[in-house]
Amino acid sequence: MVRIGIPGALFYFVYYPLWRVFFEGLGAQVVTSGKTTRELLDNGVREALADACVPVKLFFGHAMALKEKVDQLFIPRIVCLNNKTVYCPKFLGLPDMIRHGLPDMPPIMDVRVDSRDSKLAVLRALMAVGEKMKASPPAVLGSYAKARVTQMKFYRLLRNGFQPAEAIDMILNRKAAIPVFRPGQMTFAVVGYSYIINDRYISVDVVNKLRRMEINVLTPDNLSPLAIARQRYNSGKQMFWTFSDKVLRATRYFTGRKNIAGIIHLSAFGCGPDSIVDRFIQMDNGPGGTPFMTLTIDEHSGEAGVGTRLEAFVDMVKRKKRGE
Ligand code: SF4
Repeated sequence: MVRIGIPGALFYFVYYPLWRVFFEGLGAQVVTSGKTTRELLDNGVREALADACVPVKLFFGHAMALKEKVDQLFIPRIVCLNNKTVYCPKFLGLPDMIRHGLPDMPPIMDVRVDSRDSKLAVLRALMAVGEKMKASPPAVLGSYAKARVTQMKFYRLLRNGFQPAEAIDMILNRKAAIPVFRPGQMTFAVVGYSYIINDRYISVDVVNKLRRMEINVLTPDNLSPLAIARQRYNSGKQMFWTFSDKVLRATRYFTGRKNIAGIIHLSAFGCGPDSIVDRFIQMDNGPGGTPFMTLTIDEHSGEAGVGTRLEAFVDMVKRKKRGE
């Protein structure tokens, strides 16, 4: 049985349910790199370009963790899926960065997806993957249909307040649902890229830290695509990058809502788009807006520093609410 490796970073938190069921439907065994550890992060930091953002360094570490365990690595080159915005250039270069940046890696299965080239771009990419796996077109279509059903279940769990890493565990690892939203508690929005918020190591587990402080948490992944698409941000500029555009629109949705007591932007050190996103959020929120804090995450982010800043922010919001 061919073993397909999927690094547990970046797109993992967006498409892993779909990819896993799709490949398993074609008879492959899917292997992931698991959760981030200090060692895995250190490996990525050592091997990736020094000026790469933290999530890309992390991706290197996850790819390296699969080196001896798989026959091929699946790293698609996803350019555009909505005809409007494109993924950040780092995503576009991922297959090449891993292929040329790490020695002796397994072959990389790299398919390009750009919906601006064709309405059937996704289907064509799947067919190309099927061909590499020596699967017939009907088998590819059947497997994709099953994979879509699983991905829909994943989206439903997100709409119910679970975070992607939790939904993946529930659907694919059969973990029991834990209550994530408690009535009567304050709610904060944590905005940022899924692959930062959901990596418990690199995000220093901000979501669960807030929950332990009796704060409910919502993130951009909990909003429907329609709710996000309806938002307009006030900066006057359109964001080119898909994930950055989603973060800005989601923040716009959360800003000024009565049920959102505070907004925390988890920003990645070394991320070019984030330097603009953070500024736009501040301009959009404006003076007197929803209490807001930016936490910049890097490879040295420590439990203690982040915990103290979170506690201070929560305390400030509670005092404001009490009118102190
Ligand atoms: S959007 Fe930022 S954090 Fe994400 S891959 Fe691009 S540079 Fe890195």
